[in-house]
Amino acid sequence: MDIESLDVPLMSYADACAKCNPRTRAAVVMDYAGYLADGDVWRDFARTCGLHLIEDAAHAAGLDGPGISGDAAVFSFFGNKNMTTAEGGMVVARDPDVLNKVKQMRSHGMTIGTTQRLRETSLTYDVTMLGYNYRMDELRAAIGLVQLRKLRHWNKQRETLSAAYRELLHSCCPGVSVPFSTPRPSAYHILPVILPERADRQRVADRMRGAGVQTSFHYPPIHRFSWYRSRFPSVRLPKTEEFCRRELTLPLHPKMLERDVELVVRVLAEALSR
Ligand SMILES: *Cc1c(COP(=O)(O)O)cnc(C)c1O
Repeated sequence: MDIESLDVPLMSYADACAKCNPRTRAAVVMDYAGYLADGDVWRDFARTCGLHLIEDAAHAAGLDGPGISGDAAVFSFFGNKNMTTAEGGMVVARDPDVLNKVKQMRSHGMTIGTTQRLRETSLTYDVTMLGYNYRMDELRAAIGLVQLRKLRHWNKQRETLSAAYRELLHSCCPGVSVPFSTPRPSAYHILPVILPERADRQRVADRMRGAGVQTSFHYPPIHRFSWYRSRFPSVRLPKTEEFCRRELTLPLHPKMLERDVELVVRVLAEALSR
C-alpha cells in the first residue's frame, strides 16, 4: 500500500480499498512514528472486506488505542523503542482463541507450558501446530515492569519535545515540514521531518554528524529491498517513495532538554543553508 500523503504517512485507505482482492486475508496497519492509525476506519474496512486486522503498534507503546479496533496488536520492546526489555515484545488480543493460539505458537506449538506441567500431574503434552521459540523470560519481564512505570512520563516528555521541535522548525527551517500537522493521538516515538525537495539528504546528515548530531532514516521502503523487488518487481508507491527520499529523523529522547532541540534545529538550518 501507498501512504496517505507526505503529511499523513500512514497506510492509505483509498489504496487499500483499490488493492484488496479475493486473495487478501488480512490488513496490517502500522502507527508510524507513534501516531495512531484511524481505528474506526480500519475496523470498518476489515469488516466490509472480511479481513483480519492486525496492528503493528511497535511505535505506539503507552497509548490507549492499540488493540481496540483490530484482532491483535503487536508491540516491540527492542532496545530502540519507547520502552524496552532489550529484546522481546508483546501481543494483545481480545479473542481467547487467538490468545491461546499465540501462546501455543510462542512455545514450540506445545499444548501446555512449563509452569502448567509443573502444577499439573500430567507428564505429557501434544504438539498440534508448527511453533516457535518466542517465549519472554522472567528477567526481561522484570525489566519491562520497571520500564512500564516510566513509560507515560517518558511519552509526555517526547510530546513536549516534539511540540518544541515543531515550533522551532517552523520558524528556523521554513522549507522543512513535520508530518502529522493535524494533531492525533501519539506516543511520539520518533521525530520524522521532510526535507525540501532539492536538499541532498545524505549531505545534510553528514554535515549534522560533523556537528555532533546523529540523525537516522525511517525507513527504506520494503518494496525496494532486493528480496521483495525480485518477487514483486512492478510495485510502484509514488508517495511512499517520495517520503522515503526526503525523510530525515531527528534525535528524540525523553532525557533531551529543550536546549538540545534548539541545538539540533540550529545545526539542521545550517546544514541546509550551506
Ligand atoms: C521495531 C519494529 C518492528 C520489529 O520489532 P522486533 O521486536 O524487532 O520484532 C516491527 N515494526 C515496527 C514498526 C518497528 O518499529
